[in-house]
Amino acid sequence: MAGRSTPAIVFDLGKVLLDFDYSVAVAKLEAQSRISALELKGLLDQSPLLYRYETGLVSTEEFFAVVQRQAGFRGDLKEFGAIFGDIFSPIEPMIKLHADLRALGLPTYLFSNTNALAIEHIRGRYSFYGLFQGHILSFEHGAMKPDPKLYEVVERLAGLRGGDLLYIDDRPENIAAGHDRDWRTILHVAPDATRGAIRRAGLRV
Ligand SMILES: [Mg+2]
Repeated sequence: MAGRSTPAIVFDLGKVLLDFDYSVAVAKLEAQSRISALELKGLLDQSPLLYRYETGLVSTEEFFAVVQRQAGFRGDLKEFGAIFGDIFSPIEPMIKLHADLRALGLPTYLFSNTNALAIEHIRGRYSFYGLFQGHILSFEHGAMKPDPKLYEVVERLAGLRGGDLLYIDDRPENIAAGHDRDWRTILHVAPDATRGAIRRAGLRV
């Protein structure tokens, strides 16, 4: 666990900085679709189709074409994107923690399994997105966490390895893959606990 006292901080996005709930989008999509909200949820939420989209195997246009075909969605891509992207709500104490780390001059990286529509929405709505030194997004690299390939991208972009990276994520399998590379890790459960863990890592936040 050797590392410098001032590591780069690697943040997961979903359930760490932003909460999300697909049921909000699904309820809005149902009004313009042939299939039920439950079927829409099965099509979009943690589905094989979403996996392919977030791995960059299908483009936004291809993803939307499948939704049109399988759900009978009657709106256009612009309408769909606005609804599909609008599933997030801010976790303010974590956005503040990120700002505090940036104020200390520490480099931070966003490391997320996500898709182009979500990022377009988030970039336009949340100013914290622009404060990261870099963004490692699954769909841009053809791999999802916990695939080691995506962790290698983080190391390459940051120019750091092992204990010089301090990684925060709410999913144990993602944290385990970081731990396997000797990254310092924090399994995020609650904002206060994560801030405490960062303090114990020697950072004055
Ligand atoms: Mg997460």
